[in-house]
Amino acid sequence: FDWNSVSFRSRYADMLHDKDRNVKYYQGIRAAVSRVKERGEKAIVLDIGTGTGLLSMMAASAGADFCYAVEVFKPMANAAVKIVEKNGFSDKIKVINKHSTEVTVGPDGDMQCRANILVTELFDTELIGEGALPTYEHAHKHLVQEGCEAVPHRATVYVQLVESKRMWSWNKLFPVSVEAEDGEKIIVSPSEMENCPGVPSVCDIQLNQMPSSDFTILSDVVTMFSVDFSKPVRSASTCYSVQLETVKPGKAQIVLSWWDIDMDPSGKINCTMAPYWVKPTSALQWRDHWMQCVYFLPNEEPVFQGEKVYLTAYRDEYSVWYKLQKAREKENKADVHVESPVCRCQAHLLWNRSRFGELNDQNRTCQYIKSLMKVLKTDSVCLCISDGSLLPVLAHYIGAKQFLKANHLEDKIKILEARPESLTSSHLEDKKISVLLGEPFFTTSLLPWHNLYFWYARTAVTMHLASDVTVLPQSASLHMMIVEFQDLWRIRSPCGTCEGFDVRTMDDMIKNSLNFRESKEAEPHPLWEYPCKSLSDPQEVLTFDFRRTVPQHCLSAEGSLNLLRKGKSHGAVLWMEYHLTADTSVNTGLTQISNDKGNCEWNPHCKQAVYFFSTVIDSEIQTDFPSAVTYAINFNPKTGEITMDFKL
Ligand code: SAH
Repeated sequence: FDWNSVSFRSRYADMLHDKDRNVKYYQGIRAAVSRVKERGEKAIVLDIGTGTGLLSMMAASAGADFCYAVEVFKPMANAAVKIVEKNGFSDKIKVINKHSTEVTVGPDGDMQCRANILVTELFDTELIGEGALPTYEHAHKHLVQEGCEAVPHRATVYVQLVESKRMWSWNKLFPVSVEAEDGEKIIVSPSEMENCPGVPSVCDIQLNQMPSSDFTILSDVVTMFSVDFSKPVRSASTCYSVQLETVKPGKAQIVLSWWDIDMDPSGKINCTMAPYWVKPTSALQWRDHWMQCVYFLPNEEPVFQGEKVYLTAYRDEYSVWYKLQKAREKENKADVHVESPVCRCQAHLLWNRSRFGELNDQNRTCQYIKSLMKVLKTDSVCLCISDGSLLPVLAHYIGAKQFLKANHLEDKIKILEARPESLTSSHLEDKKISVLLGEPFFTTSLLPWHNLYFWYARTAVTMHLASDVTVLPQSASLHMMIVEFQDLWRIRSPCGTCEGFDVRTMDDMIKNSLNFRESKEAEPHPLWEYPCKSLSDPQEVLTFDFRRTVPQHCLSAEGSLNLLRKGKSHGAVLWMEYHLTADTSVNTGLTQISNDKGNCEWNPHCKQAVYFFSTVIDSEIQTDFPSAVTYAINFNPKTGEITMDFKL
């Protein structure tokens, strides 16, 4: 855990804002405490991963006699001590700064005796990815009594089989067709890639932002497996199999999955991650710390309507993966040794899901093809600088056509394992580069402008460029817009009190860590998952001319953005547009403002930069609201970073 990591801070704030979760935990904890009390026992609580101490404070308020609050992360444990004290629970709650597996029980131990109530919130979107299973397994063996009450009582994982070209494009490379002068050429991926099982890392997304037109449901929702947390838990690898009857013909490609937790044994207090088509939208609680999972089947499988198929979930201690079979395989649950998927083709290690999606985006490819056709000549010598790019292959098919028949592709494309600054003439066989290409894309880029690395690389190879070199893209521009978020603002807004408990210490910690970083930084978010509306027109704020070398001096701009719509100015969004040639560009940000309410549509493959304002101006409430936001933005060529300042 890194306290300064954006995702970590956001997760905590987001959990505390998750009203549905908090209310249900409180109900479940109250019910568990009363069940224990009814049996005439003292209620001794073990809260593993206490964070702010919230769930322990709930338990203490519900009448628990004593709570052991275990937290491995030191800054969090310190915060928990302060919060517990501030809320007056110091005599009822003992914060233990340890990993739960290090906790000792006994007269001289961390805990005087074993607990009879086990409370945790150790779940991620995949349920088990944060190590809930081994933690429970250990706790049942060493830290809690037999027959203890657990909140949550049980978790259940649900699945639904779907076909989705959009989601499938995140995992396989589709054939690319290139309209060359001598006919259509199809670029296909090698067979290792076709048959590669991919990587086991979970693909978690805000499935509620996936329009129903982007997938076809092939089966009903079924229960895949559940875990009873009040009984001993086994974390060892295992598998679960269910029979499905398809409700439509199609290609089985994707397993969508989510879970719910029952806070009590009766199942009356249920907290679910089910997406919009499974439960009424009025019941949807927005949250970012728990989303939904997309699993890619190893291969797509055609199915007819009413066909019976078998879906198997395999899991190890921390992750889950799926397989679909037409006939039931005799599997011995006791010794499953099905290996988790391992990428054999390398592509899944090089390209993440959104990168696959980007490479499969036909419209985008068309822009590159169109501009390559304009700039390439048969004798062009091209140098492409980008990570895992298909541009060289496209360039080859379009440009050097007459060589194609005589030679294999590998003779025409040379992969140079050199950094741009250490490129020598011999790498280039003493040729000068006539066309310098980049998407640009680099796997290490987090924020949109990090791909300006292309500009630095271009500067480093200047001596190898022909005097009339064409650089594609010829330039980039940075665009900015003021927005109101539907939900994303929560991850940055202070919590104050949570279910009546004062958690301002946590708010202060987050604020201090932001101030420490001067809070002048933007953070990356894939905005197609986070609805927002535009309050200003988009504006171009900086341009970067790749035809020239990186300048010595800073590039800066000042100006203002007029607020055209009423709403809460939560922040500014920034994105890059790459101008491949004078009249062709690729946009990585705003694609459209879809209606007069200002709803935005974003490039679905890219993350945009979000700069949250420290104070939010609500023009609906304030009558003297400013009509514009002024900005000062600066690109420092020494660091490659962009800093900004706003006045509302
Ligand atoms: N219980 C809090 C926080 C949940 S976040 C709430 O519901 O608001 C989970 C926390 O558990 C994190 O702070 C993490 O550091 C901690 N954690 C995870 N596994 C743990 C373990 N086995 N032992 C101790 N702490 C753990």
